[in-house]
Amino acid sequence: MTMIFLYGPPGSGKSTIGRLLAEALNRPFWDADAVIEAQAGMPIPQIFAQQGEAGFRAREAAAIAELLTQGDGVLALGGGALLNEAVRRQVEAAGSVVCLQAAPAVLLPRLANGDGERPLLAADLATKLPQLLAQRAAHYASFPLQIDASAAPDAVVYDIQVKLGLFHVRGMGDGYDVLVQPGGLAQLGQILRARQLRGPIALVSDENVAAYYLEKATAALQAADYVVQPVVIPPGETHKTMQTVAVLWEAFLQAGLERSSTVVALGGGVVGDLAGFAAATYLRGLPWVGVPTSLLAMVDSSLGGKTGADLPQGKNLVGAFHSPRLVLADPDVLATLPPAELRNGLGEVVKHGIIADPALFALCAEGWTAVSGNWPELVSRAMAVKIAIIQADPYEGGVRASLNLGHTIGHAVELVSGFRLRHGEAVAVGTVAEAQLAEQMGLAEAGVVAKITAVLRGLELPTEIPPALDWDAVIRAVNVDKKRKNGRVKFALPIRIGEVRVGIDVPDWPHLIQTQSIQNADI
Ligand code: ADP
Ligand code: ZN
Repeated sequence: MTMIFLYGPPGSGKSTIGRLLAEALNRPFWDADAVIEAQAGMPIPQIFAQQGEAGFRAREAAAIAELLTQGDGVLALGGGALLNEAVRRQVEAAGSVVCLQAAPAVLLPRLANGDGERPLLAADLATKLPQLLAQRAAHYASFPLQIDASAAPDAVVYDIQVKLGLFHVRGMGDGYDVLVQPGGLAQLGQILRARQLRGPIALVSDENVAAYYLEKATAALQAADYVVQPVVIPPGETHKTMQTVAVLWEAFLQAGLERSSTVVALGGGVVGDLAGFAAATYLRGLPWVGVPTSLLAMVDSSLGGKTGADLPQGKNLVGAFHSPRLVLADPDVLATLPPAELRNGLGEVVKHGIIADPALFALCAEGWTAVSGNWPELVSRAMAVKIAIIQADPYEGGVRASLNLGHTIGHAVELVSGFRLRHGEAVAVGTVAEAQLAEQMGLAEAGVVAKITAVLRGLELPTEIPPALDWDAVIRAVNVDKKRKNGRVKFALPIRIGEVRVGIDVPDWPHLIQTQSIQNADI
């Protein structure tokens, strides 16, 4: 694992943001200035007074060099720490530098309340700060990872995690890291080593995914000295059965897996659910790692710790909560995912944008070319939404229901279509229908339906309940679901792009949707 450095001008929030980021990522935090003061036994202005800027910079370089040996964590640097080329090289080799930036108008008031510990600005802040910023503008701009630090601290921390593609899920039991890392598959071995995961490793995949990536994943694990046993199962939901789980148990036995060994699931949602469930149950539970390779698995099923298999009577009837030790999404593998599978995942991605991330929705609105040219950001943003919701509600009592947007009607449509509509397509249809409900009830901002419809169409997702579909059967399917949920259908409905409300009763919902589609048909 690597260090994360927070850098940027005075007042950009390096210490505040750094502390919050470290907490969110469950890593240690250091403040370079505080370490320097402790080592010098005096406050920074005094170091400047006695030893000049040169003296301070020497102490700073020494303190940073020492902190670099600490391994993994978040380190807030002083605003000029990387002006020294040698220090900069050391720091950039040890991890990622996040450069926080904000306009003087934002920084000035923050510094005005400061405690006088900024010797380079001490007197006459209003003239000196813009001068200092101008002097260092090119320097700050030269760091690849730029973050707008003018927003509220929580929003800045969220933004940093999205840009780094690094999250920590605290949910149930031990937390786990989630990484979105282009090219990460080739680093799989060292990433697992850094988390003290042990071999032998059962590397579970399906035939399609294995053809593309099994060799690469195996080599990456072997390069980190793991003993690897590949286990390849047939692809597709029809194999998400207890028979396949038994095949996995048998393979684990053959591979000599022990309680401390690791199962790696390399594949889509089916592989993740099955391998996770086999890991949850074999020897009463082995550590496992998710390496989702389908878009749907990345943004949805790999997060939340649900594992399981289908029964002939229905989907996901058997399962267990068993959090992975790590989820590694490498967006590069989406290059081989068939377009239909990409669309399947995009249904959920758009949903996540509607729930909580207008920037993600805007990216989706740019259409297919923009989306397929920007998988890392899209995947990171979509995963971030689900992670934030899981964190806020690990036991599915409240806001987690927001993830059901589009699913009350979507699931029924999927079922009644005999699964001819893929899950993501059915969710797209369901999202539009539910947005219609919200708009008709006056809950949603006017125009939400039109916006959502346009974005989904741009991504070649369906937005209307297919005319051939038996609408009464859809209503019945929703009601069957209702019985399972104590007699009430509670909708999660969009209010505007970026906000949903959960637990909404809509007594006459079938009528509201039918009215709308009849109106559409008239036009
Ligand atoms: P899900 O959509 O829930 O992830 P699957 O696990 O069945 O469901 O994955 C969908 C299909 O895509 C499967 O046929 C699987 O083998 C295939 N697949 C998954 N990831 C990739 C990939 N990166 N490249 C090519 N095919 C893939
Ligand atoms: Zn879904």
